[in-house]
Amino acid sequence: MELQALDQYVEEIEAASPGRLLDRARPEVRVALIGVLDSHRELTPEQGLLLYQAEGDDLRALIKCADLARAADCGDEVTYVVNRNLNFTNVCFVGCRFCGFKRQRWEAEAYDHSDRVLLEKVAEARRRGATEVCMQGGINPQMGPLRYRELLELIKGAFPEVHVHAFSPMEVMYGARRARMAYRPYLSMLREAGLGSVPGTAAEILDDEVRETLSHKKVDVANWVEIITTAHAVGLPSTATVMYGHLEQPRHIVNHLTLMRDIQKQTGGFTEFVPLRFVHHNTQLFKLGLVKEPPPRGLFDFRLYAFSRLYLRGSINNLQTSWVKLGVDLAALTLKTGCNDFSGTLMEESITAQAGGQEGEFVPVDLIEEKARAMGRVAVERTTLYRKLYDQRAPNGARPLAPAAPPPA
Ligand code: SF4
Repeated sequence: MELQALDQYVEEIEAASPGRLLDRARPEVRVALIGVLDSHRELTPEQGLLLYQAEGDDLRALIKCADLARAADCGDEVTYVVNRNLNFTNVCFVGCRFCGFKRQRWEAEAYDHSDRVLLEKVAEARRRGATEVCMQGGINPQMGPLRYRELLELIKGAFPEVHVHAFSPMEVMYGARRARMAYRPYLSMLREAGLGSVPGTAAEILDDEVRETLSHKKVDVANWVEIITTAHAVGLPSTATVMYGHLEQPRHIVNHLTLMRDIQKQTGGFTEFVPLRFVHHNTQLFKLGLVKEPPPRGLFDFRLYAFSRLYLRGSINNLQTSWVKLGVDLAALTLKTGCNDFSGTLMEESITAQAGGQEGEFVPVDLIEEKARAMGRVAVERTTLYRKLYDQRAPNGARPLAPAAPPPA
């Protein structure tokens, strides 16, 4: 479906009455949707499987209910964070088949940024109003045993006010092994050094069989869960993510979200859920023929987002769309299929771009505000941990940049 047709599709759903759409859905779909929407009844995995495969009238009813649940639980604000990605190295030995970002250290495009370059990038981000630096990189076999702590000390030493959101569970696993430390003291040490929160990436699909094909060297499910729950336990919140549109079956998505829901009940440490569409062009998965062309953009994404909103209802409140994976226009439409958060400005994005993504590296605040308005909503800047920054707005609604930090000496 073209973007215009998708736009019309969500508009028609928005205009229709919930009763009419629910009446047209199959009875078992209707029961599940009414239960979660009206009574906050948690969807069972069986209902999840049913809803995740919804099509036609069932899908329209699913999207309508997700949008109503979003309005009831989050209101009409669309949150976003002014942040900068900092991919400090692309040298990596892990070899994930879905990744187009990694390089071997002898390749021409390999890099490992110096401290000076990193500080310049953070200084530039601060001058442009960033409150967060999101720092992740390849798993570089030549890094020093305490490199991640040193990176935190470097950045927090120069910019103590910046929130550092960094180090996926894969990086934490590798870093802890290099430092010869257990996860708990290692994560506590990073927190002491200034780490503010952890990306819940490297999750892809939390199913060891699927992971074996995606990347047999990657952190396994047990370690991913242990690292994330330990991070939460030592006071480091994290995001929760899923990568979809590759080898996974519906049951993998449902099991993955069930696990996220269970972890959240145990720790309360997830700040948001972020579905990430697989970008295939420059990946081994695609080149080896293990994955064909992923499903067309549009309804497939709407269903995943709407399903996530309802399946996680009562556990993870914030659902983040990804303009990097979907493009700004399609991401804006997902604001009507359950999403309440537009992610960040990023300023620099290599991981998806290197996999063949063509959506750019930066979205200015003005564009986020414009897209939110076009969807009948209002954009509000937030911090990484979802504190809303209304106070940064001038009376005329203009959003001043945060004070610029001086460039590093
Ligand atoms: S996804 Fe991360 S760990 Fe896997 S190959 Fe790419 S950079 Fe390395």
